[in-house]
Amino acid sequence: MESGKIAASPCKFERAFEMEILRVCSYHRRDFDLAVTGTNSRDHDQVRSSLLRSINTTSSGLGRFQILPLEIVYEICFLLDIQSLLNLRHVNRRAHQIVRTTLGYKATITHALEALCVILRTKIASWFTLSDLFKVLCTKDCYFCGSFSGFIFLPSFTRCCFSCIREDSLPPLLISSVVKSRFKSSQVCLYSLVPTIRSLPGIYSMDEVVRKKRTQIIPAEFISTLSLREANERARVAQPKEKALLRYMVTTALPYLDIKSGGVQNGICCRGCQIALERALRSSGAQSNSCALRDKVYSYEEFMEHFRECREAQNLWMFSNHGVDVDNVSEFVRPGGWFKTRDVIMSFDRIADN
Ligand SMILES: [Zn+2]
Ligand SMILES: [Zn+2]
Repeated sequence: MESGKIAASPCKFERAFEMEILRVCSYHRRDFDLAVTGTNSRDHDQVRSSLLRSINTTSSGLGRFQILPLEIVYEICFLLDIQSLLNLRHVNRRAHQIVRTTLGYKATITHALEALCVILRTKIASWFTLSDLFKVLCTKDCYFCGSFSGFIFLPSFTRCCFSCIREDSLPPLLISSVVKSRFKSSQVCLYSLVPTIRSLPGIYSMDEVVRKKRTQIIPAEFISTLSLREANERARVAQPKEKALLRYMVTTALPYLDIKSGGVQNGICCRGCQIALERALRSSGAQSNSCALRDKVYSYEEFMEHFRECREAQNLWMFSNHGVDVDNVSEFVRPGGWFKTRDVIMSFDRIADN
């Protein structure tokens, strides 16, 4: 037997074993995804195949761009903002073909279409390039705290985690109407100077607050550079609860793409830690870090490290007959987290349709 084959088999076996442990002992927090901005995922498969459709053409040209070497055309596409790049795609079949083969396009459409739809609908697409989005897609950890992250902070196209969204660790935000009066020129001018998010109707935060109207949201850091009285203006932003909602309106779920392996991760939590919390609440009471442990989001690799130390997760694995019996699932884990109203998922789809 060749030595290469001897080395490959245990590694493959270990990987399969790990995937079984992940299937039994971890789950994805869907409640976190639904607490931030999103779109109706039912439409995405059709849009994705249309955006990835290959068109062979020799009849169409690129007009004046035709004289440029193809490398330069690709370089221009790479530097175009997302909105312009997608507009270019509609020019003709040749432009469609060029855009489709631009660096990062295929991976972004395949793995980040939901985020891309949010970026287009919140009108932030003209502020960033496709390569900006691709870079965030291939970034694993939260820019603000270093934990594994499954979200993007749209005003700066930065990786962020749910903990940073919930705990107010993101850069401050303002409602644009608050600073509008400070501008002598029109509000259109403000939007051309500052990345502005036009929030989507939806259900936001873990409290499931419904917002049917759209709000213009801007990062406070840009306003301070424009010499506005930032502190005074920030104080005028409604109630703390309303202010907290802004963070959920300017973030959306974005998976992590490991460019080397091609693997995609959304982040997982530990079922064992949820069982431990439920048991503690039924008896003497939970420890102070029990909720934080339950809510901690891991990458696959981080979870396997946690599994080696989490007794409840190990018990779950053993009592499941090593992955054979997985029926005994916590009521919290089954829907993918905590939902105040059980029909929130349906409501989310209905509001996203409007
Ligand atoms: Zn973070
Ligand atoms: Zn655990």
